[in-house]
Amino acid sequence: MTSPKRAGPGARSALPEPLRVFDPVNDWKCTTCGTGEGLLFLEGQSALCLACADLDHLVFLPRGDAALSRRARVHSRLCAVVLRFSRARKQYERQGLLVEPQALERAEAECEADEGARALRRERDEVRRAGEDKALILDMTAALLRLFPACPPHDAASLAGHTAVRGSGRVGRSAAGRALDDEALTLAAVAWIRHRRTDYDDLLMSGMDRADARERIRGAVDRVLEAWRAAGGTAS
Ligand SMILES: [Zn+2]
Repeated sequence: MTSPKRAGPGARSALPEPLRVFDPVNDWKCTTCGTGEGLLFLEGQSALCLACADLDHLVFLPRGDAALSRRARVHSRLCAVVLRFSRARKQYERQGLLVEPQALERAEAECEADEGARALRRERDEVRRAGEDKALILDMTAALLRLFPACPPHDAASLAGHTAVRGSGRVGRSAAGRALDDEALTLAAVAWIRHRRTDYDDLLMSGMDRADARERIRGAVDRVLEAWRAAGGTAS
């Protein structure tokens, strides 16, 4: 993943092509010093070890972390891609990069800072959502009490809390529930009353069909709604 700021194709093409260094599959010998260890660099027809090619101060960064690789390349004045021939796929494959150690350090620091910023943002979002939830529950409780003046406040709060739970798919999370629409609130109240004030759940547990169970408790639900609507027990 690249950071958004550097994701543009323009920024990408602005990076110079890295040198190419090979992780040799066969035995080889450095043209200059005669060793045959490690990676090799091709200078014309000559194979050079990294020391003789003046690349031995670079550090290897394995491929796999695109953001880190990208940043390390940006910060490294000298950079080489490490290629290894795959006999199975008959092609050279990138193993990673050789970059300056300070470039890698800087790239790592930037990625960590990004990670920290992301974590911080996540945390802030969670706090904000929790606050929204609380505000939504308070608003919904107030709206319920307007709609059902005789509803015991703690029942209204329970209903609002139950209905507003994020991600629950209950009416409280729907657009209408957020807008505190009377019909949505009534539906939420009916659902709550069913479970809390009738034997609906027991009927379901006994194997009764959901429609039949709802029919059976309809009267009980209506009585609770009626009682809640009557302000102070008198008709308003
Ligand atoms: Zn050499």
